[in-house]
Amino acid sequence: MPTATVQLSNEQIEIRKIFCIGRNYVEHAKEMNAEVPKTPVFFLKPATAVIGSGGTILTPAVSRELHHEVEMTVLIGKGGRDISRGNALNHVAGYGIGLDMTLRDIQAEAKKKGLPWTLAKGFDTSAPLSSFYPASAVEDPHHLGLQLLVNGSPRQHSNTQYFVFGVDELIAYISQFFTFERGDIIFTGTPEGVARTIAGDKLDATLALPSGQIIATLTVHVQ
Ligand code: MG
Repeated sequence: MPTATVQLSNEQIEIRKIFCIGRNYVEHAKEMNAEVPKTPVFFLKPATAVIGSGGTILTPAVSRELHHEVEMTVLIGKGGRDISRGNALNHVAGYGIGLDMTLRDIQAEAKKKGLPWTLAKGFDTSAPLSSFYPASAVEDPHHLGLQLLVNGSPRQHSNTQYFVFGVDELIAYISQFFTFERGDIIFTGTPEGVARTIAGDKLDATLALPSGQIIATLTVHVQ
């Protein structure tokens, strides 16, 4: 099974479930012509979808439209159920950067027909993940900068201060229905600027503290 690496301690944690939040930035909901949700919208990816930095994204032949979605990621260090919002951040081991790779044409067809998003979102290599910066060294996960460069040019740029639902709210909400386990990951949703990416592209994603210090980096290639 793929593992998540916690920086500084170099601890390796086996990855379990991967929760992905939809429409957690108002500007992204707008660009998708979708409403801003009243409660978190989420779906799952299998752990087998994970690749690390330096990996290659393989687009299934059924799709003609692979999209990048850069997202801050959360590594759960301590499991639980019915976790209170006030205690939620104590369950986090670290924060990183990830790409929720999406087959947009397959997703659009699924939306139209009311079918699941599993193929559009959960295919092998659809979950590139950086290592995780220890949560104990992050004062506030709601003031982190995220950026994606495609072939060196800026494509997506935002800050977690624009979340619709904070990390604490997401953990509290999801844990009413799903038991969190150590090694679970949350993709916290993408900001605006999602776009097509094609074979040969190089994607560079970063997560930064308010000081500008980069705390997570991820580089992958599209094949
Ligand atoms: Mg996403």
